[in-house]
Amino acid sequence: MVKKLLSDPQKIVVIPHKNPDGDAIGSCLGLSHYLTSLGHKSVVVSPNDYPDFLKWMPGTEEVINFEKKNSEALQAINEATLIFTLDFNDLSRIGQMQEVVTAAPATFIMIDHHQSPGSYAAITYSDVAMSSTCEMVYNFIRLLGDKDKISAEISNCLYAGIVTDTGSFKYSSTTGETHRVVADLIEKGARNTEIHNSIYDTNTPGRLHLLGCALKNMVILQDYKTAYITLSQDELDTNHFKKGDTEGFVNYGLTLRGIRFAVIFIENREEGIVKISFRSEGDFSVNEFARSHFDGGGHTNAAGGKSDRSMEGTTEYFLSLLDSYKDQLKA
Ligand code: 5GP
Ligand code: MN
Repeated sequence: MVKKLLSDPQKIVVIPHKNPDGDAIGSCLGLSHYLTSLGHKSVVVSPNDYPDFLKWMPGTEEVINFEKKNSEALQAINEATLIFTLDFNDLSRIGQMQEVVTAAPATFIMIDHHQSPGSYAAITYSDVAMSSTCEMVYNFIRLLGDKDKISAEISNCLYAGIVTDTGSFKYSSTTGETHRVVADLIEKGARNTEIHNSIYDTNTPGRLHLLGCALKNMVILQDYKTAYITLSQDELDTNHFKKGDTEGFVNYGLTLRGIRFAVIFIENREEGIVKISFRSEGDFSVNEFARSHFDGGGHTNAAGGKSDRSMEGTTEYFLSLLDSYKDQLKA
């Protein structure tokens, strides 16, 4: 069915989730380059901006930011014959874009590796065992018999998403197949060392100071094998916060011996919410925790959510939940 759809020229919009990460933006750009090479008109429309450390990706200048170029974004979405949604599986994940995308007349294709996929797409390629959506885009192109069409441009985008979503190939979602895919991407032109440097070696003084602040704020609850960090809007402002600066902070909790549940609460005064990231080691499902209590979701060991309460109210609520998870966390 996909092959048939792509046998005629299409107007395509490719969409990542809000606050796109490396996997979201890498998969969208990688796929969009491929679709363009087939002769389609393809454009990436992002719900909002993404971190500077991802802006080296080929095609980044052409990404339409829904917040900044609203009329251009609306036109592309309404005129699209085909819409790909990548690295998310529920239209609530695209924020302000949800309404217009839901009403769009296009045929939808979802490619995603998160749990509990929604049913909005005509074609759903969902696999929670996959390391990343980028690995799935590689599979998607291969299944269409077009492995040879994976250019250096595409390879760099897909490699970036696999690196970021696997924590540089260390998370348990990394398989032998992931490494085979990555090996092929390097042979097709992915500049692995440069990509790594562009993503991870871009600290600013502000970011390091913010990390210092975050680590100082860390609360360790040995009884619950839990560590959490808070960052208030004032602390972000003082340290010249820029999008992406807090990426990876949550992981520090898990580096403590005996800690298996790590959380970071980040105040966002503009949106009136506290944005939350959850990480775990082992069987404790942060996806279920985030889904049940914080309007979120994700994967077993990495999930996100949000709270409308104040920072204090949010952490109080969080702490009140922990007792009922004590046995699971101790297991
Ligand atoms: P992060 O904590 O790095 O923002 O996200 C971790 C994982 O959870 C990612 O796979 C991300 O897509 C997902 N995620 C983050 N925030 C949310 C959210 O508010 N809702 C849902 N359903 N998933 C989220
Ligand atoms: Mn992903």
